[in-house]
Amino acid sequence: MAIERIIDTSLHSDDADEEIIEVTLRPTSFADYTGQERLKKNLKLAIDAAKKRGDPIDHTLLYGPPGLGKTTMASVIAHEMGTNIRVTSGPAIERAGDLASILTNLNDGDILFIDEIHRLGHTVEEVLYSAMEDFKLDIMIGKGPAARSVRLDLPRFTVIGATTRTGALSAPLRDRFGLMHRLEFYTPEEITQIITRASTILGTKINPGAAQLLSTRARLTPRIANRLLKRVRDYADVNGDGIIDEPIAKAALGLLEIDELGLDPGDRHLLLSIIENYGSNPVGLNTIAALTGDEATTIEDFYEPYLLQIGFIERTPRGRRVTAKGHTHVGKTTDQKQETLL
Ligand code: ADP
Repeated sequence: MAIERIIDTSLHSDDADEEIIEVTLRPTSFADYTGQERLKKNLKLAIDAAKKRGDPIDHTLLYGPPGLGKTTMASVIAHEMGTNIRVTSGPAIERAGDLASILTNLNDGDILFIDEIHRLGHTVEEVLYSAMEDFKLDIMIGKGPAARSVRLDLPRFTVIGATTRTGALSAPLRDRFGLMHRLEFYTPEEITQIITRASTILGTKINPGAAQLLSTRARLTPRIANRLLKRVRDYADVNGDGIIDEPIAKAALGLLEIDELGLDPGDRHLLLSIIENYGSNPVGLNTIAALTGDEATTIEDFYEPYLLQIGFIERTPRGRRVTAKGHTHVGKTTDQKQETLL
């Protein structure tokens, strides 16, 4: 679809400006990191215990939809532990040799952050198991009959893995993590705080009403909140005096076609496509992908988590279905006969 997806929760890696803003706005300590209280409580405990023992913290898996703060939390952990963090991702580690060179360059206590860890290749994953388990690296030297396996000692390090889906992780890899935590969607109040903090850092004036308005449209996701703030700030600079008030925020959001619940034309198209073809009946993920022209993984990672969260779609054993609430939002009524059959 040729729609610019402001609600896309991925980082547009071709947008250098956006990357700079992300880094600038990224909280570095627990105190700056808004929300996720349960996660912070558990991690603080793990960090205090590890520090007391003089050990690195347990390997940690953070999972949940994109843009909720997994990468940010990994750097907060490194900061709180007083260690270095090395950032990489599943698709970036193509061969076992790539991983070997990363691991042998780590120092004692370092954190290795692997984003999209579910996308690691099988052979790379196997090297990672023993590295995580007993800080040893098994490598093959030579080829053919002369080949022999060598065991190298590694520094004691911590893997922090991030994934949007734990289901896609192999069981042996999942078992290597001592701590597993799910990141939750934020409350609108927490998103308002994040917007207010971001506008202070960016030197943008926003009134409380406008911050609140943006928070209801940011899909309860900090990355989208920051991105909306940036777009609305541009609009305020061009069409006003740079100050973001409610009329300016409303006009900018209207231009971006983001509705009162944060849905964009892509979400509405998805809901309407299902309703028009299947009414209230359940439909498989691949069928939805064929209807909208998106990849199934895009639907699973970007559209679906929020639509599930606000109760517009639900998962059934036979697929996803649009709820009555979802129908109403796009101006459709549910087929009563179908509803009672379900
Ligand atoms: P993920 O790794 O889950 O995709 P990130 O950690 O990259 O998400 O977060 C995206 C952006 O959202 C960060 O650059 C940061 O500015 C902001 N952010 C995330 N979590 C928080 C938070 N708890 N408080 C304030 N800002 C946050």
